[in-house]
Amino acid sequence: MGLPSDGDPPATAGGTDNQRRMTNSKQRIFVQRCIAPECRAKYNLDDRLYVCSRCGGLLDIERVEDFASDASSSLRDLWLKRRISADARDRSGVWRFREFLPFDDDIEVVSLEEGNTPLYDAPRSADYCRLPQLKLKHQGCNPTGSFKDTGMTVAVTQARKLGVRTVACASTGNTAASLAAYAARAELLCTIIVPSGQISHAKLAQALDYGAKVLEIDGNFDACMNAVRELAEDESAYLVNSINPFRIEGQKTVAFELAEQFGWRVPDHLVVPGGNLGNSSAFGKGFRELVSSGLVDRAPKITVVQAAGAAPFAHFYADPSQAFVNEEHPKTLASAIKIGAPVSWQKAWRAVTETGGSVLTVTEQEIADAKAMIGRDGIGCEPASATTVAGIRKLVEDGVIKTDESVVAVLTGHLLKDTDYVMKYHSGSLIAPDGSQIQPSSAFIRGQD
Ligand SMILES: [Zn+2]
Repeated sequence: MGLPSDGDPPATAGGTDNQRRMTNSKQRIFVQRCIAPECRAKYNLDDRLYVCSRCGGLLDIERVEDFASDASSSLRDLWLKRRISADARDRSGVWRFREFLPFDDDIEVVSLEEGNTPLYDAPRSADYCRLPQLKLKHQGCNPTGSFKDTGMTVAVTQARKLGVRTVACASTGNTAASLAAYAARAELLCTIIVPSGQISHAKLAQALDYGAKVLEIDGNFDACMNAVRELAEDESAYLVNSINPFRIEGQKTVAFELAEQFGWRVPDHLVVPGGNLGNSSAFGKGFRELVSSGLVDRAPKITVVQAAGAAPFAHFYADPSQAFVNEEHPKTLASAIKIGAPVSWQKAWRAVTETGGSVLTVTEQEIADAKAMIGRDGIGCEPASATTVAGIRKLVEDGVIKTDESVVAVLTGHLLKDTDYVMKYHSGSLIAPDGSQIQPSSAFIRGQD
């Protein structure tokens, strides 16, 4: 456990060879920093902690030296050249941007060639939203079928660097599948805690095949999160939920990749599903770093869409003068975002307010219809991902998104993650948590427009 400091960066000049090496390394350029404005305690990169040991606040990885602003064009060229390189780090859409990651160049990365995901046109979904310019960034095209891989490659690389034997997480399914795969690659033991009977068979199957030890507990995701935090307290396991700031470092590179795909201009709006809120936190951080280093001139407005039955962040957005209240019994069929106590809400709040975005909710019927519409574009996503298109449709209707603005929806998981939902929707037997039946739209099931 590290002790906080307020002074100079942790490594010092002179002394042993090791110290001299650290002086020129990322150990000196990056620190862990508490995000609480009244605290701002600073820790070494390799201090094994998940929250501030002084105040309990969330930690950010912070770069204490800025890039020279004239470096931006050479960085863009360098990153582009890496796309045709055979180096394992260059094949990864995360490590390709390693100048912004808190590791030395000689770090042995744990990678499955994550990232480099497609940015699709989606004309039918665009029509559905009454929007000419809608693109879908499909993070479900990662190696284990969800966005989690971009964060996990960095967190598990850090775990191996710290010399831990066991990594652990609480999960609604996607984190479990991803961590299990990366732990297997790193030859680490992996313990996963999931809510009994509440995660899809596909996700559970992934975790089992990758060799994880899966513990099911009675209770929801938030109960699992409490259990795994207890497990991590005595250092018998290294916690890699998105409270771990190294996860966010990996996920922030999606902002870099997206900016590159847009020719280093950015869309007007970036819309993401909201569960544990690690994604919106990471995109906010990524774009903040891109703007401050001169790689782009502005950030997109980051908007978070939650399922109406699991929407503590949207309730807070509606009245930020009130304290943040967790949702004790979150309810949605979009299991990936069925979370009532999102650990990263303060970072997500920073992302939304800094960029001028918003937070809204959509119903189970709206999620299901939007998902089927995305499917009609030939793109398969899991239910949580479809909150984005459902939300964009409402934002256009309400005039929050103008029809001449460019919009990107982030799809977070692949269709094959939850096929039961799909079969039930299209056969008219999908039942919402409140007992009502979700009606399949005839337009989707009969192939009409
Ligand atoms: Zn603190």
